[in-house]
Amino acid sequence: MSARPEPRPGVMQIEAYVPGKSAVAGVKKIHKLSSNETPLGPSPKAIEAIRAAGHFELYPDGSAAKLREAIAAKYGLNPDRLVCGAGSDELLSLLAHAYVGPGDEGIYSQYGFLVYRIAILTAGGTPVVAPEKDYRVDVDAILAKVTDRTKIVFLTNPSNPTGTYIPFDEVKRLHAALPPHVLLVLDAAYAEYVRRNDYEAGLELVATSENVVMTRTFSKIYGLANLRLGWMVGPAHVVDAVNRIRSPFNINGPAMAAGIAAIQDEAHVAKAVEHNERWLSWLSQEIEALGLKVTPSVCNFIMIHFPQEPGRTAKDADAFLSGRGLILRRIESYGLPHALRLTVGDEEANRLVVEALRDFMGVKDFMGGKHA
Ligand SMILES: *Cc1c(COP(=O)(O)O)cnc(C)c1O
Repeated sequence: MSARPEPRPGVMQIEAYVPGKSAVAGVKKIHKLSSNETPLGPSPKAIEAIRAAGHFELYPDGSAAKLREAIAAKYGLNPDRLVCGAGSDELLSLLAHAYVGPGDEGIYSQYGFLVYRIAILTAGGTPVVAPEKDYRVDVDAILAKVTDRTKIVFLTNPSNPTGTYIPFDEVKRLHAALPPHVLLVLDAAYAEYVRRNDYEAGLELVATSENVVMTRTFSKIYGLANLRLGWMVGPAHVVDAVNRIRSPFNINGPAMAAGIAAIQDEAHVAKAVEHNERWLSWLSQEIEALGLKVTPSVCNFIMIHFPQEPGRTAKDADAFLSGRGLILRRIESYGLPHALRLTVGDEEANRLVVEALRDFMGVKDFMGGKHA
């Protein structure tokens, strides 16, 4: 007998998720480029909807009916197949809890989102990591990890923190080769940003399969990260299981109202996509021109690789940039100690980052500062 309460086995194995930094001691003006938030903010209509939501004394609609209807209308889905969550993080965790237990295995990709690992361990299961090739998800490597104990496979597409994606054909190939008892979770948090003909988030695959679900979020392109709002779509039996274990009022009224307004403001989303396309390629080109390797990204962030020589490492760069109020994300917790992740910011932040990296790398600016 213990002298004090002890968490159940596995809990103390979990390394708590460490969010991106949001402040630097001694630096007043900061640009937070560490959490893939949108520089455009949410739709003004979403802010208006929160103001109008009112009645904080009343419990919210636990079924999130109006929000599910708005999402269903936008994507041509059946609202009964949707579950909303306090961020897609909550849904990822609920899926692990519903389908994984002690003795079971959950697979995710080498540089996959750390939340999967936490969710699998919290549910009492065993995380199994499939290696990636050149920072890209490797479908064959995932399939090689499947055993009789596999219950769930988490696939981020496109991926965070690498920014890479796999074509939809590859997703279909993965699904076709998985045993039917394995739940395939497609985490499409950055789907709205992708501009590639061979990419599909996979809504049709969800609609035509008994073992595929997709999670989406309002935290990224919709700019509502603070409100904690996400949704999933899946087969009726999975929706039923998740609804049994989620807390009854898991999302709040103002968040639901904002989500409805945000998803209907297509002009705002288009603006965000346009901004991202322009600055994603500008940042990638400018930073490569400084002699740093950038992994090609289809998201709203890029992974920058730094040399391993003293004074020029990712850690040194992080300290240098932080001193100028530019907060990027160290990703050593993903096994990427020599890279930093940079979120596409507003024009001012983007230009400051390139300027700072130029100084950090000691590159002479022969263009006389005339860049784009
Ligand atoms: C940001 C992100 C999410 C979204 O998380 P929320 O809980 O909805 O804020 C999900 N998956 C990945 C890979 C992400 O990067």
